[in-house]
Amino acid sequence: MTDKTFKDLNLIPPLEKALSKREYTIPTPIQLKSIPGLLEGRDLIGIAQTGTGKTAAFILPILQRMTEKYPRVIKTLVLAPTRELAAQIGESFSMYGEFLKFKHTVIFGGVGQGRQVHALEKGVDILVATPGRLLDLLNQKKLTLKNIEFFVLDEADRMLDMGFIHDIKKVILKLPEKRQSLFFSATMSPTVNDLARTLLDNPLHVEVAAQATTVDTIDQCLFFVDQHVKERLLLDLLQPKHLTSVLVFTRTKHRANKVATFLNKHNISASAIHGNKSQGARTKALNDFKTGKIKVLVATDIAARGIDINNISHVINFEFPNEPESYVHRIGRTARAGAEGTAFSFCAAEERSSLNDIERLIRQKIEVVDHKFHSEAAKNAVGTAAKPPPRKKRNFTKKFKSHGKPQHRSRRR
Ligand code: AMP
Repeated sequence: MTDKTFKDLNLIPPLEKALSKREYTIPTPIQLKSIPGLLEGRDLIGIAQTGTGKTAAFILPILQRMTEKYPRVIKTLVLAPTRELAAQIGESFSMYGEFLKFKHTVIFGGVGQGRQVHALEKGVDILVATPGRLLDLLNQKKLTLKNIEFFVLDEADRMLDMGFIHDIKKVILKLPEKRQSLFFSATMSPTVNDLARTLLDNPLHVEVAAQATTVDTIDQCLFFVDQHVKERLLLDLLQPKHLTSVLVFTRTKHRANKVATFLNKHNISASAIHGNKSQGARTKALNDFKTGKIKVLVATDIAARGIDINNISHVINFEFPNEPESYVHRIGRTARAGAEGTAFSFCAAEERSSLNDIERLIRQKIEVVDHKFHSEAAKNAVGTAAKPPPRKKRNFTKKFKSHGKPQHRSRRR
């Protein structure tokens, strides 16, 4: 993740205002990679799925580059494969453009055209459309694309799958030569690539990792808690009988050991598994967990990879993972095979920023639980307080002083 904020992207105040109204402060990777080049007028090919923040990645620079003209003419055209996506894009224009005066409308098939034509006649700056209806209205001369300066083709791969290629080509022929074109696709096949090449001029290439989704059947709960109280909270949560088989995640091996020892001391059967344990010890811990001999397995992300256990009732994130994607993998360990599952996450002040990243990735806010150890400081942490303290620099001369060998092993995972 990045430390850059939207302030570093030199957006105009009305856009900054719309972003801060939604408390969007940190650009997503695709936004960070695309916005500067788009503001300079570059064409773009973006390989990214929904959920990555790609809509704002194109809407923000387009709104910034558009100038008002009267009477209103259509300067921006966004093509989307489905009515739902077109409507969502329209909503995003309303949201990011709230403090600007541009008007937009959305047109799609499957409904009467009367209202859509009326909106066009009143004059718009931005048109979001599905290809079929757009062509219909173009053929009926209800609109013109001769003033287009910005053209976006969203979800190109899906458009091609849905057989829109001819419609798209016809639309492209009606666009002015001089324009800025943006092309988004979740995947890149030779046909998608061919289409991109006919459309783009020396484009900027931006690719971001696939978006992960959270299993719907998992009940996710969030506990704001101070770091030093986490063990007591865990102990409390483990009391009810229905928590039969609980997988607890820590970020480090050291912490996994500590948590397992703490639980055993308080009469809750637990074992830790991590990279420093022998294969034999790991297999035993896993078998004990599977057969119900122990109630809690404490694991690091790496150790838990590839573990296939079907009856985990609860996953507890004692600490958030370094990478937001790991959150999705972790909680996916419960609710296997259609069963319902529960994931509890502990968030201390220094993890607040990781939580923001996770919520952005899964596109939902995790439900906050009120509990006796609740920490307002954790809940409200911002800036450096919301991040882990910087790691101490290692003193290499000291570490290598005897025979050039490290004197102690790294304590990290
Ligand atoms: P998209 O991939 O464009 O469908 O966006 C996914 C979701 O992330 C939408 O609900 C956006 O409103 C939201 N979003 C976009 N950019 C940001 C950001 N920088 N910070 C937080 N949320 C964002």
